[in-house]
Order: sequence, then C-alpha cells, then structure tokens
Amino acid sequence: MLVNASEMLKNARKGQYAVGAININNLEWTKAILQTAQEMNSPIILGVSAGAAKYMGGFKTVVALVGAMVEDLKITVPVATHLDHGTYEDCLACIEAGFTSVMFDGSHLPIEENITKTKEIVKLAHDKGVSVEAEVGSIGGEEDGVIGAGEIADAEECRKITETGIDFLAAGIGNIHGVYPDNWKGLDFDALSAINDATGGIPLVLHGGTGIPEDMVKRSISLGVSKINVNTELQLVFAAATRGYVEEGKDKQGKGYDPRKLLAPGVEAMKATVRAKIELFGSKDKA
Ligand SMILES: [Zn+2]
Repeated sequence: MLVNASEMLKNARKGQYAVGAININNLEWTKAILQTAQEMNSPIILGVSAGAAKYMGGFKTVVALVGAMVEDLKITVPVATHLDHGTYEDCLACIEAGFTSVMFDGSHLPIEENITKTKEIVKLAHDKGVSVEAEVGSIGGEEDGVIGAGEIADAEECRKITETGIDFLAAGIGNIHGVYPDNWKGLDFDALSAINDATGGIPLVLHGGTGIPEDMVKRSISLGVSKINVNTELQLVFAAATRGYVEEGKDKQGKGYDPRKLLAPGVEAMKATVRAKIELFGSKDKA
C-alpha cells in the first residue's frame, strides 16, 4: 500500500522503533526490499536518489515501477517512495511525478535560505499529500558527489527548520555516508539529545546507516530517531554475492548466465540484509 511517510514515522517515534529507508537502484533492489518488508509485516521507505532515478530512466519510471510492483506482488504493508537528498528542482519534479515523500537537502545553504526553500517545498508537497524531510548541517562522507565533513547539527537551527512544518528531520550527529573509516569517533549522543529536546518530538532521521554499531542504532532510536537510511550495505552484499557466483564459474554452467540465475544470489543477500535491518530497527510486525 503506497502512503506518505508521515504517519508511519509518527507511529515509529511513538512506538520507539525506526523504519528503514532503503535505497533502490533497479528492479531487483525494489523487489527484494518490498518482498522482505511484506514477509516481515513491516512498514518500509524506498529511498531514491536523483542519480538512481536517472539511472532507472527518470522519476516517472520509479513511480510506475514501484506502483505496479506493489500492486502485482500484493504488498499490503505501508510503502513510501521517498526522494533522497533532493535539490529544490528534484523535489518539484518528484511531487509532480507522484512520489509520496521527498527530502529537500538544503544543508549546504545558509540556514535562512534553507528554511525559506524548505517552507516552499512543504507547502507544495503537503498540498498533494506528500511528506517532507529537511536537513540541517552536512553529514559526512560522499553521496552522489556531495562530500560533507561529518558535521554536528546545531540544535537551535534544528528547532527553526522544524517550524516550517516538515514531517521529519535529518540532522548530522557525526554520521557519515558510505563505509565508516577505522578512526570514526561514533555518534554524538549529547548532540542528538539536544536536537531531540529542541524539536518537540518530530521524528528524526539517521543517514549513513551502513556500519553503525547495533548498540548505537538502538540508543539513537531511544533518542527520537525514527527513520534510518541504508544504502551502501545492500550494494556491498549484492556485489559480494555476485562475485562469488561468477568466481565459482556458475555463470558458465548450464544456463547459469540467465540473469534470473546470475542475479539471484545477490538478491538473496539483499533480502537477508533487509531482514536483519528490520529486526534491528524494531519495525517487524508494525505494519
Ligand atoms: Zn543521506
């Protein structure tokens, strides 16, 4: 069932669990995530970066693929199609194309400009029943060519942007996109606590969910994190499983070259990862 992400994240926040926002890249990703969420009776958010959407053909292709698959596979758990790290123009295009949720990432802008633009997106999105995520302060690592320094968001700025009427907020607390370096200091829970106190109970979002230790994930949920983004991890397990299949020469045995066989180990690996995330985030049976 396609829905926006507002209600599911309010419920998560109230119920002290988080919903996974898992990025998709193609049909295999989409199907693996949807089927696993259904099997686990968990709400799910499909994250789509502008780059991934472009790869798939465009925002309309994403909307059509997800919508048709939800129907064909009889997916009854709540599913949101969410633009990840969108520009102002991306947000407008996704609202128009039929996404149910968008993230406007104005974190690189001066705070006043970020607030002004977020407010405009909120108005346009809410008119169409689309939920909105905003971001304050940059998050470390690299995503689609955007490099941040692993900043910690300012609680007062978080409070101000929350007043624009956004549905959930991404705020840097030392989290990083991609693989965490060995010398990573961990999440800053004092900062998260201050942000949580300043933002009046709005669901908070943790980006860069790949490789954050389980105890830190759980502690962040207890401090208001209700949406956790996972992207890199599925890419890593898919690549490793596919590599194993090819290195064992299975693509050269019989019809092992058939994409349905060639990609199957990767799909199974992604499903196992999604299953583990749903367990860890606590969203099993919360659909
Ligand atoms: Zn992110």
